[in-house]
Amino acid sequence: MLRPVLPLAALAALAACAYPYTPPALSPVTQPAPPATGAPYTTAAVPPAVQEARAPVTILISIDGFRPDYLDRGVTPNLSRLAATGVSAAMRPSFPSKTFPNHWTIVTGLRPDRHGIVANSFIDPARPDETFTMASDDPFWWNAAEPIWVTAQKAGIRTATMFWPGANTAWGGVRRAGGHGEVDGGTRPSDWQQFNQAVTGEQRVAAVIDWIRRPAATRPRLVTLYFDTVDSAGHAYGPGDARTTQAVAAVDAQVGALVQELAALEQPANLVIVADHGMAATSSSRVIALDQLVAPADARVFEAGPYASFYPATGRDAAVRAALLRPHAHMTCWAKGDVPARFHYGANVRVPPYLCLADDDPGGAWSIEKTAPAGPRAGGNHGYDNEAPDMRALFIANGPAFARGKRIGDFDNVDVAPLLRDLLGLPAGQALDGDDRPFRGLLRR
Ligand code: AMP
Ligand code: ZN
Ligand code: ZN
Repeated sequence: MLRPVLPLAALAALAACAYPYTPPALSPVTQPAPPATGAPYTTAAVPPAVQEARAPVTILISIDGFRPDYLDRGVTPNLSRLAATGVSAAMRPSFPSKTFPNHWTIVTGLRPDRHGIVANSFIDPARPDETFTMASDDPFWWNAAEPIWVTAQKAGIRTATMFWPGANTAWGGVRRAGGHGEVDGGTRPSDWQQFNQAVTGEQRVAAVIDWIRRPAATRPRLVTLYFDTVDSAGHAYGPGDARTTQAVAAVDAQVGALVQELAALEQPANLVIVADHGMAATSSSRVIALDQLVAPADARVFEAGPYASFYPATGRDAAVRAALLRPHAHMTCWAKGDVPARFHYGANVRVPPYLCLADDDPGGAWSIEKTAPAGPRAGGNHGYDNEAPDMRALFIANGPAFARGKRIGDFDNVDVAPLLRDLLGLPAGQALDGDDRPFRGLLRR
C-alpha cells in the first residue's frame, strides 16, 4: 500500500487539524492521506498506522508427532488452508523416528548417525559416567553438527527460539571443568526460552508475536516454534482416538492465531511447518517380552519400545549375539555394524552394540518391552522404521517465497535445513546429507 509522500503543505494542514498526527519514525511510505478540503477528519477515514515495509521472517514450526493424514479429519481449517495455498508433502523422518534425533536433523541437514543425537537417550564412551537425556544442554552432546540458528547468527541474522531440542545449548561451547555446569564460549539464539512443557501453545504463539512486534533492529528473522500436545495425546490415546483429534484441532487454532497476528502486523512470513515423525497405534496385545529371549543379567536393555538397544554384560557378548541374531516374530535384530544401509545408522560410537526393531504392521505396531505387560493397555508410539507409512511427518511451507498449491512427493527430512538456508540467503551447507532439490522450482526469488 504505497502512497505518495505528502507535500509539506498537506502535512501542515494535517498538523493543524484535531487529529493527533505523529510523523513517521521510519521511511515515509504510508503516511495518512490528507482530509478532503473542509471535510471533518474522522477516525473512520484514518488509514493504518505508519509502518516500515517489514522484511520477511522465516518461522520454523514443529508440531511434534503430527501425521500428514491428520489434515484429513476435518478439524484443521488453518493448516489445511496453508497446505492448499502453499507447498505440502508427507515427509520421511530419519531413523530412529524419535523426537530429539529428528529435530536435530531438521535444523542441521544431517542424519542422526552423523549429527550425534542418535536417540532421545544414549551414552558416549568419552563420558562413561554420564547419560544424554532430553534435559541435557552440555554442548558436548550437540557440537558435532551446527544448527541453522547458529549459522544464521554467525551470518548476522538475528534468531529466536520458542523451544526446539538443542536450542537450550550454547552451541560450540565447552563445559568448564570443575564448574557447576557453566559453559565457556558457544553461540545461542539472540532470544531463546528454556523448554517448559507447562507453557501453553497460546503462550508460545504470544511470545513469538512479541518478538516480531519489535523494531527492526531487535526483531528476529528466523524463529522456531514447537508444539508438543499432539504427540502427547497420540502416545496417551493412540493416533485414531478422538482426543488426539481434539489436540490436532487445538494446535490448528494456535497456528491460526499466529497467522492472524502476523497479518495484523503486516509481517510477511515464510512458514515452514514440520513434524519430527508420525504415530503408530500400540497395544498390550502386540508386545515382545525381552526377558523371554535374553537373560536380564546378560545385557543392559538401554532403550525399549518401538526398538530396543542393548549393551552386553562383560563376557556375555556371545550369549547376547546368539539370543538376538536369529529370526524373531514381529521384530528384526542386528549388530550395530550390520543395520541395513537404508537406515544410515550404526557407525556412531553412541549407538549401542545391538539393535532390535519392532514391526509397524498395517494393523498396528509391535512394542519391545523388558517384560510382558501387566494389564491391557493401548496408545501410540513412534521410533519405528522411518520408511513406515505411520511414521510420515507433516510438511507445509507457505509464504511469499513459496509457490502456491503444490503437493510434492515424499522427501527425506534432511532436505529441510537446505531449504531454510535458501530462505535465509545462506550459502548451501557443506557435506550435508540433504539438499534443496525437492523445492527447486517452487521457490519464488
Ligand atoms: P518423545 O519421547 O520422542 O515422544 O518426545 C516428546 C517429548 O519431548 C515432548 O513431550 C516434550 O516433553 C519433550 N521435549 C520436546 N522438546 C524439548 C526440549 N527442548 N527440551 C526438553 N524436552 C523436550
Ligand atoms: Zn516427537
Ligand atoms: Zn512422542
